[in-house]
Amino acid sequence: MEQNLSAITAPLLAWFAKNKRSLPWRQDKQPYHVWVSEIMLQQTRIEAVINYYARFMDALPNVASLAAVEDDALLKLWEGLGYYSRARNLKKAAQSIVTEHGGIFPNNYAQLRRLAGIGDYTAGAISSICFNERVPAVDGNVLRVLSRLTGSRANVLLPETKKAAIKRLQPIIPPQSGNFNEALMELGETVCLSNSAPACETCPLSEQCTAFREQLTTELPVRIKQQKRRSEKLTVLLLVTKNGQIALDKRPDGGLLPGMYQLPNVSGFLDATQINALLKTWDLLPHSIQPLKEAKHAFTHIHWFMHGWNIAVETPCDRFIWVSPQELDKYYALPTAFRKFLR
Ligand code: SF4
Repeated sequence: MEQNLSAITAPLLAWFAKNKRSLPWRQDKQPYHVWVSEIMLQQTRIEAVINYYARFMDALPNVASLAAVEDDALLKLWEGLGYYSRARNLKKAAQSIVTEHGGIFPNNYAQLRRLAGIGDYTAGAISSICFNERVPAVDGNVLRVLSRLTGSRANVLLPETKKAAIKRLQPIIPPQSGNFNEALMELGETVCLSNSAPACETCPLSEQCTAFREQLTTELPVRIKQQKRRSEKLTVLLLVTKNGQIALDKRPDGGLLPGMYQLPNVSGFLDATQINALLKTWDLLPHSIQPLKEAKHAFTHIHWFMHGWNIAVETPCDRFIWVSPQELDKYYALPTAFRKFLR
């Protein structure tokens, strides 16, 4: 990234002043609002986040309420957003703010960076948007815009590419640092799109853009995945009593989806005879064992391939928690991977 980027500041800020979207967390610059929205927006589209954000703020309107919330209630608010460690880290960080900062939100990058779940990007976003600290906030959108602007062929999936981008942006961050950072992100989300067709004709930076000038927009940014996802086969059991209660299990505290509820499942693909034998070991008497449609779910490093079975049982057993569909909806956070079998 050799090119001088300081020429982008004025057109970018002018474009943002005219085109910025009205979003719930932009109604004020309260760090709690910006923080929660930024964490939700990691890995999740804005349209999907808006409802979650409203529900979250209704239930947990400030740092103190987040610090005190029960884990199950928190995970229920997060249900369906995925990457549940984000919710756990929000609570952990809220507790640190209460105990170590007297409930006052830290107002600078260095202190924010020390809170659970707050990395370079989020610390940069909160400190610039809420406190006008002159630091960059580089997320995937910003990296894409920078790669195209500068014609960089560095792999944007590597941490060193992000570090280089932060270093590159630092000297050109203007006093309106929050607007500058938000403008770059917004440009990436609405104009310099991640597919192969960015809207260069409406882009305020087309004059400065190497990819536009040299017709490289379809080639940039370079994304080379380093790691392949591991595959796991699972047999998932939707166990339902004659009263309509559904069996739930709790996952262990470590590993994937720690402490979340799940439908009972075992690794590998079992057939009806094997399932019957398994049910016996759980003291369950099945009336019927019917296959459900297959499903898959991708996590960061693992791909689950799941065979589901709908099993009617006479009465519950002690091994599981048995809940009505209404209780499940209201109180139990069930990851999307398992919800696929409830539809
Ligand atoms: S001109 Fe096109 S490729 Fe360059 S920053 Fe703008 S939208 Fe992206």
